[in-house]
This record gives sequence, structure tokens and C-alpha cells, in this order.
Amino acid sequence: MLASSCSTIFSPDSSHTFLSSRPHKDLYHFKLSYSHLIVRAQRNYYSVLGIAEDAGKPEIKSAYKKLARTYHPDVNKDPGAEQKFKDISNAYEVLSDDEKRSIYDRYGEDGLKGGPSMGGFSSIFDELLNNFDGMGMGGNFRNGFSEGEDLAYSLRLDFREAVFGIDKDIEINRLEDCPTCEASGAKPGSKSYVCRTCNGHGQLISSIRTPFGIVQQALSCPDCDGMGESSTPCNKCRGEGRVKKSKKINVKVPAGVDTGNKIRFECEGNSGKKGGPPGDLFVVFEVRADPVLKRDGNNILYTCKVSYLDAILGTVKKVPTVDGMSDLKIPPGTQPNVTLMMAKKGVPFVNKKSKRGDQLVKVQVEIPKKLNVEERKLIEELVNIDKARVPSS
Ligand SMILES: [Zn+2]
Ligand SMILES: [Zn+2]
Repeated sequence: MLASSCSTIFSPDSSHTFLSSRPHKDLYHFKLSYSHLIVRAQRNYYSVLGIAEDAGKPEIKSAYKKLARTYHPDVNKDPGAEQKFKDISNAYEVLSDDEKRSIYDRYGEDGLKGGPSMGGFSSIFDELLNNFDGMGMGGNFRNGFSEGEDLAYSLRLDFREAVFGIDKDIEINRLEDCPTCEASGAKPGSKSYVCRTCNGHGQLISSIRTPFGIVQQALSCPDCDGMGESSTPCNKCRGEGRVKKSKKINVKVPAGVDTGNKIRFECEGNSGKKGGPPGDLFVVFEVRADPVLKRDGNNILYTCKVSYLDAILGTVKKVPTVDGMSDLKIPPGTQPNVTLMMAKKGVPFVNKKSKRGDQLVKVQVEIPKKLNVEERKLIEELVNIDKARVPSS
């Protein structure tokens, strides 16, 4: 039952997050679910990751990545987070590897004991701590594989597309698991051999002289990526386990976005190296300016020229708005530089379509530079009327 409640959270359908209102509450959800899971007496790698036993690879990756981000000790200072993180990493190490997973499915954890790449987690973990960069922009996660890089795609939108939202198809280029070697990086059919550089240890110890004495440091072996073994590299991906591919993605741009807003597409970034979890794709919006309407958050700014006569007597003017031409009432006695409000003619609030900003119209009163004879006569008459008026104290 727990597994099924988690799988809805991990569902790929819910993975498109608009960042201005990024729901941290579902991370919180994980914590709750997880704390229930670990109460179980017998540890089960599937329940540790909160997935069903028939979960596919992308689901495993996605579950691992989310949990790793939640429980990484750099991010989560709760006591016990470190242990949880180790358990999560342990579970992912096994379930992401077809061979280890099938052994685990048949014989349980005992079946995996003594295997070459099991054990030694504390040192690997320490290395992880040094490489993990907060919310993960592709740090080395563990020996041999690493999380895929996040990708950014800049999507240009017309002014009104951003105001009212639009559906757009984009094509991204990214690195995907190499189909030839199934992301392992090894030439199919080739045998792996013990790495000569590190003699199978996966680590190289180097000594650094510091003012406090000689400090020994363990580094991941560069020749085998810390795996302790090497193999003939796959021809297709040159041993990286990833190949370039393009993918079409449908972006539902919500109404009201502005330049710099972004949408996260979880796990749509580059594949991880050698089977590591994929990165995310961020679609960042860049909104083209409009020649007359200026945007100020959810409001639209516009300047309207009004003749001095219309300002005095009042009138109705046609002004451009995002909805097309609209009537603006200029009340009699309108003063220069006054701002008139056209309510709800602004930009919808993201994810709250019914709520809209306003259009704010600044009135620029135009005084004529030249008058014809008749106009001059009339105005002089006005001046005389004004002079004759009893001054009001
Ligand atoms: Zn390959
Ligand atoms: Zn090596």
C-alpha cells in the first residue's frame, strides 16, 4: 500500500513543475512516506526507493534522484538523513544494475554480499560529500557513474503569447543512454579486466604536503572511473555510455509568464553517465517586448496623448490593450500626468487564470504650439472671462 502511494508521487505525469510556484510540499511528502517505510523490520530496496517491484529503469532513476536530493546530508541536516541517504544510494546501486537486481530479486541482500563493487560505502560516501553540489547540477554521484547534466533551453515568446499562454513544441539535443552498450560504455561481448592503474581498488592514494604535515587523499581512479575494472570501450559512444539524440518536447506555456521564468521537466536532461540518474530540462522564457504596451509584472503600462480640450471637457479614447482596442474614459478636468486605471486589462497571474493585473494609462496632455487666428481669438475671450471672474478665496 505504501509503495502504491509513493508511486503516484513519482509518476512522470506530475513531474512538470512550474518554478515560480515550485511545490516543496511533495518533498515533504517523501519524508513522511519514507519515515513510515524505514519502520519496516526488513529492509527492502524497492520500498527504500518507494517503488513497485516491477518498476522500470526511468522510474528507479527518478525515485532515487528525488530521494537523494531530499536526504543528502548537505541539504538535510536531520539526524538520520545521512543513514537514509546511504540506504537510498545502496538500493539504487543494486536496482539500477540489471545483473545485481536479478541477483537481489532471487536471493535478497545476502546474494550480493562479497561482490566486487559492494561494500566500501563509507569511503564512497565521503567522496560523494565532496562532489555533491547542493541541488545537483551533475555532480559525481558514485564511483563509475554520475548524474546527468541539467539542460537549459531558451524559449522566445511573443508578448501576447506570454500574456495568454501557448502550446509550443521544442526540439532539444541531449545525451541519451547508448543503445549499443545499454549505457555501460563497454563494447558488447567484451570482457572486463582488472584496472592496471589502481589494481582493481578503484581508488588512488595520493599524499599532499600541507603546513600541518602529510595528508593522504583517496581519489577515484581516472582510468576506470573508480570501478576497479575496465573494458573495451563501446564503438558507438566511445565508452561514455551516452550518445547525442534530439527529442521533441511539448511545452504548455501558462498564461502570465515573463522573461526569466522557467519550467522544469524532470529527468528530461542528459542521461547520467554509465547508468546514473538523468538531469532535468529547464525551459527558460524570453519574452519579446511590445512596441506600445510595456509590462510591469502583472500590470501593463501605456501612455495616452490627450488634447488640452479633451482633458478639460472629457472624452472617450480608443486605446490598445492586450485584448485589442478598448474604450478609455477621460473624465472632464483630467490633469496632466494623471494615471487612469483600466481594471483587469493586465496580465493573468500564472496558474490563477481568473486573476488579472490592470492596465495603467498615463495621460499626457498636449498643448498646441501654434494657434490659428480663430483659436487665438476664442482663447483670449476665455482669458477675459477668467479675469472677470470673482476670485474665490
Ligand atoms: Zn555505447
Ligand atoms: Zn582503476
